[in-house]
Amino acid sequence: MTRSGLKLSGVSAAYRDTPVLHHLDLEVNQGELLVVLGPSGAGKSTLLRVVAGLQAATTGRVLIGGRDVTALRPGRRNVSMVFQSYALFPHLTALDNITFGLEVRDMPRKAARERAAAAAATVGCAHLLDRRPGQLSGGERQRVALARALVREPDLFLLDEPLSNLDLELRTETRGELKALHARLGVTTVHVTHDQTEALVLADRLAVLRDGRLEQLGTPDEIWRTPATVFVARFVGSPAMNLLPADGPLTPDGAPAARPPGHRIGFRPEAVRLGDVGTPAAVERVDVVGEDAYAYLRLAGDGPVITARVPSASRPFPGEPVRAAVRWADVHVFDGDGRRVTGA
Ligand code: ADP
Ligand code: MG
Repeated sequence: MTRSGLKLSGVSAAYRDTPVLHHLDLEVNQGELLVVLGPSGAGKSTLLRVVAGLQAATTGRVLIGGRDVTALRPGRRNVSMVFQSYALFPHLTALDNITFGLEVRDMPRKAARERAAAAAATVGCAHLLDRRPGQLSGGERQRVALARALVREPDLFLLDEPLSNLDLELRTETRGELKALHARLGVTTVHVTHDQTEALVLADRLAVLRDGRLEQLGTPDEIWRTPATVFVARFVGSPAMNLLPADGPLTPDGAPAARPPGHRIGFRPEAVRLGDVGTPAAVERVDVVGEDAYAYLRLAGDGPVITARVPSASRPFPGEPVRAAVRWADVHVFDGDGRRVTGA
């Protein structure tokens, strides 16, 4: 049986009278890396703050490792949080910043410093211990913040957009290191991000949050292959999935005759085939990104625009008339409320 690392039941949170989280139920297995993915303002940071005890839940309970911590102070929850801003003390060296979490727990100074140095070595910042945050690059600061969180040997790690301040190359590299670190340490982790690529790469399971509600929970594969709602379908994947009314202007190959009005069909840019058959379309624009090209096609004269991903070597040119076809097997169907229709 899998043990529970973190469990939220019926958790709500609010700022003054404005509700931000709405009766969330969510369980993270012991040792699992759960990524919470959602756009800015979805309530991701609030969720972490409630778990850490920095903010009170207005309803519901928080359990860590089976223990109800709802009423416990942050210091009693054995949780470490890495803030988006890193929140390092500017006047302290990296070593003192890392040690800080331990000294407030009355650990002897020498032992604390040894633990801090070991944590720093784990995340590759052992050579930076004498520097103050002002003397560190963004990536180095991020490592120190991570070491400060690690040194406490927490039951639960909370990471709030830990890669968002890094430039793209460093973000990709650090993402890989975080994944390896998690595999090595096996600490239950909730990693928050608005970046769908980061979420897909890192997550054991992924929770998509929208306006303080859980939109879908599943493995990255499940989220990708069977998005539960239009929101998830469009939020995960870049460029976003195409969406058209089910009864018009593009009829997928093999589609059933009856396609209810009000339903919508979705298909990813890579599912669109350009050739001699299909719906007539005009190429409005083409973006070339190395091997791939993204063609923006206006369907059927003055219809909607869809995106097609094609090999850049065989891309069409703006103004060119083409035909676009999609196989029914590549189509997702959503009802009028934006929920996935299964068995369609
Ligand atoms: P995310 O981290 O997903 O971007 P947040 O949890 O920071 O979202 O915010 C969720 C919502 O709560 C947003 O609408 C935001 O404006 C609001 N909010 C966040 N912090 C505060 C605050 N201190 N006071 C009032 N509203 C806040
Ligand atoms: Mg946030």
